[in-house]
Amino acid sequence: MNNYSILLVDDEENIRKTISVDLSENGYDVTLAGSGEEAIKKLGESNYDMVITALKMKGLSGIQVLEKTKKMNSETVVMIFSSDGDLLPAIEALRLGVDDYMLKSAITEELHFRVKHCLEKLVLRRLVKKELVENRKKLIEKNEELKKISIRDGLTEIYNRRYFHQYFEREWKRAIRDKKLISLIMIDIDFFKLFNDTYGHLAGDNCLIQVANTLNDLVNRPADLFARYGGEEFVAILPGTEKDGTLLLAEEMRKAVEALKIEHTSSTISEYVTISLGVGTIFPDNKSSSNALIKLADKILYKVKQSGRNMVKSNDN
Ligand code: GH3
Ligand code: MG
Ligand code: MG
Repeated sequence: MNNYSILLVDDEENIRKTISVDLSENGYDVTLAGSGEEAIKKLGESNYDMVITALKMKGLSGIQVLEKTKKMNSETVVMIFSSDGDLLPAIEALRLGVDDYMLKSAITEELHFRVKHCLEKLVLRRLVKKELVENRKKLIEKNEELKKISIRDGLTEIYNRRYFHQYFEREWKRAIRDKKLISLIMIDIDFFKLFNDTYGHLAGDNCLIQVANTLNDLVNRPADLFARYGGEEFVAILPGTEKDGTLLLAEEMRKAVEALKIEHTSSTISEYVTISLGVGTIFPDNKSSSNALIKLADKILYKVKQSGRNMVKSNDN
């Protein structure tokens, strides 16, 4: 056995017998069908590597068997054998994708070579298909990876500013629809330029990573989002969180960074790295844009910087 399965279709019993004995002797697993209708039924029941069908039969013709086979499984190779050399059905068979076409009179040796070549074609077809499927899978994985990378900041691996804007815009519209408020915390590391000047840029990068991770861990409600807004600036969006709750979280953030105890000898307000936080809370409406909330939190952050840093403030306090 060579493991190839062939469905042999002919309404002439003696031809069916001769060919099938011959193919079986050469190791093919042959199934017989005495009509086109029977062939279609068998094709529906199991898979065949190859279909060899007579052209002219009572009932469904070889052309119809070819058409149905290719529709059911485009991979299956189909060979038609005809008792005359009429060109028209041969052309029709080619149009429908027949893999080989031969005269009944030229059986045995010729048949063996043609079957062999047809099955080689099948192997190639399967290889190409497998390759295509694998390549497509790889492409999808690569795309997913790129999508993930494109929304993250390269240094801290938290969400980047681009994704923040995208997300914020969506939440802003949702809040208008649901008539809910949105809070935003703008965060900035204090005297970070001096930190870099004192400890070097690499230490600065490490500090940014530590601060980002610490703050990111504190922002964990499903709709919340924490992102790197700029160099040493971060932002948290908290849809549906009232001002008081946001102030509590902001204070927790401030304390968490202080508790990291990252040495900062050039800071004039602490011996460790600290952050300043501006909290803004508003009910979005169609008259204002999401930018209004960013500006509000930024303005409050500026006030925090002016009044000493390492502090939390919100609008109206
Ligand atoms: P303030 O307390 O008023 O915020 O002072 P500051 O020094 O933190 O503010 P300033 O805007 O003057 O400096 C920000 C510094 O952040 C300057 C810049 O070199 C540094 N910085 C921005 N991005 C990065 C980064 O990716 N890595 C490092 N190491 N430093 C960065
Ligand atoms: Mg800054
Ligand atoms: Mg700063």
